[in-house]
Amino acid sequence: MANIFDNLVQQLANSGTESPRLEARLLLAEVLNKEPSEIFADIELAPAQDKSLQNLLQRRLSHEPLDKILGKRDFYRATFKVSDKVLSPRPDTETLVEAALRLLPSDNPTTILDLGTGSGCIIESLLLERPSAQGVAIDISPEALQIAADNAVNLGVANRLKFIQASWFYADFATRLAQKFDLIVTNPPYIPTKDIATLMPEVQKYDPLLALDGGTDGFDSYKRIAELAPILLKDGGYILLEAGIGQAEQIAEIFAKQGLQHIATEKDLAGIKRCVVMRK
Ligand code: GLN
Repeated sequence: MANIFDNLVQQLANSGTESPRLEARLLLAEVLNKEPSEIFADIELAPAQDKSLQNLLQRRLSHEPLDKILGKRDFYRATFKVSDKVLSPRPDTETLVEAALRLLPSDNPTTILDLGTGSGCIIESLLLERPSAQGVAIDISPEALQIAADNAVNLGVANRLKFIQASWFYADFATRLAQKFDLIVTNPPYIPTKDIATLMPEVQKYDPLLALDGGTDGFDSYKRIAELAPILLKDGGYILLEAGIGQAEQIAEIFAKQGLQHIATEKDLAGIKRCVVMRK
């Protein structure tokens, strides 16, 4: 009989999981209360542990994402609490974090604004790397803000991060903020409404629609944020935008129309143009 680890990998692979070995390791680590690096192929489970494994496995096989089952996910250099009230942090978005860090001097008291913070993974990763920076994180969802706030406490950046519940579509958004920033980061909703139904169940059912739906053509939020960026940025300040597949050129044009300068477009590890860098 195949061992528990191989068996688990096989079941996950059969259900179409993209990284079955990694997920098997994370599931076993959870039920054994160990670090993933401590999980070896010759693992043994007590009956109660096997029962909880089967329980978690069934949830995964019905397409609940692993991070949402475990309630946490690694992103950049930290572990973030997640739930179905926030978009799962994705490796693609680390492209934006890296691009931002290249622009952020290491010891300046920079101010950063994160539009649509979700779990807080972008801005909190930046604050972790830049101990003199301060931030404001906006989200329309109070549940998301609660998770982002919990993460800020866990990561020790809460004293440098302010949370505001608001939508950038509010007419008085900029006046309410009443502050200018050195850097704006955002991973806004960018999926065209009609494409939502074609997303994999892990995304469609377990990521909040609010974080996905970018309106008819997917560009609603970019267009609105482009109106706000010149008001919210200091002269010489940067805005970094995550882009969906095939959207980068149009995003740069939308922001150029508002007088911002296109500095660069950064690709993710899959070679997709993922992050548009603009400057005021
Ligand atoms: N990256 C997500 C996806 O491809 C979408 C997130 C977003 O709309 N910002 O499913």
